[in-house]
Amino acid sequence: MRKTLVVVLSLLLLCWGVFLFAFANRLPVQATQKTVRQVRSIVLKIPPKSVRATPSPVAHISAKATPPTIKGDNVNATVPASIRENIFFNGNTSLHEIALTFDDGPHPIYTLQVLHILQEYGVKATFFCIGRQIPAYASIVRQVSRAGNLIADHTWDHFDMTRLSIASMQWELSRTADVIQQVTGVRPILFRPPYGSINTTVKNVSTQLGLTPIMWNVDPNDWRLPGAGIIVQRVLANTGNGSVILLHDGGGNRSQTVQALPQIITVLRARGYRFVTVGQLLADSVRG
Ligand SMILES: [Zn+2]
Repeated sequence: MRKTLVVVLSLLLLCWGVFLFAFANRLPVQATQKTVRQVRSIVLKIPPKSVRATPSPVAHISAKATPPTIKGDNVNATVPASIRENIFFNGNTSLHEIALTFDDGPHPIYTLQVLHILQEYGVKATFFCIGRQIPAYASIVRQVSRAGNLIADHTWDHFDMTRLSIASMQWELSRTADVIQQVTGVRPILFRPPYGSINTTVKNVSTQLGLTPIMWNVDPNDWRLPGAGIIVQRVLANTGNGSVILLHDGGGNRSQTVQALPQIITVLRARGYRFVTVGQLLADSVRG
């Protein structure tokens, strides 16, 4: 009897052992599977890393369809008297040379329209490009450059430079110069301050980076859309030897500028003016 009891108890213990063993192995598997499901659902709810990460300026602008609207470059064009004499507003007044300048591009429509007119008339001009717009329209900038026009620095973001820290000024200018060099193979040597806003610090910082600040002395306010006829009239009335003419190929609707361009070129050429880049105008300004 006692023997039978021992056998039964042993069997029960064995069964209990087998049960415990099986249960102990199964539990972690269930727990692990549950954990995986939970983790997976959490991961799926997390937005992609690229959305959360701060995009580089280049990636940011590449996604944009059209450049932002910008008010022209004469909004607060005040130059302190202390540096006025050392800033380039116009070239040599004894030479029949003038320079057409186009700001705030590249633009997918107007820059190419301007380029085609320039090519048709055999005119070279200077384009002050906004750095952040260049990556998206690099092929346009390359085309403009290869046609013999000068590509110049109009900063990366088109901020009022006088309100920035020196480090930001340097970044705005260098970043743009780097991209222009990457796209055209030529490092820019000219810079136009957005809104014509410049002071001693902006001038010194740009000069230290090898960029000469360039202003203008003929401004038809084309960006205010006064009508193509008025733009032509204003340019013709104010242009003389060594003039730097401010126009815009980007930053908004520039159809009136495009419309005015052929007549501006035709009439000024008939008056005996030769169209050169600002680089040429600057080089010729040091001659007597
Ligand atoms: Zn501008």
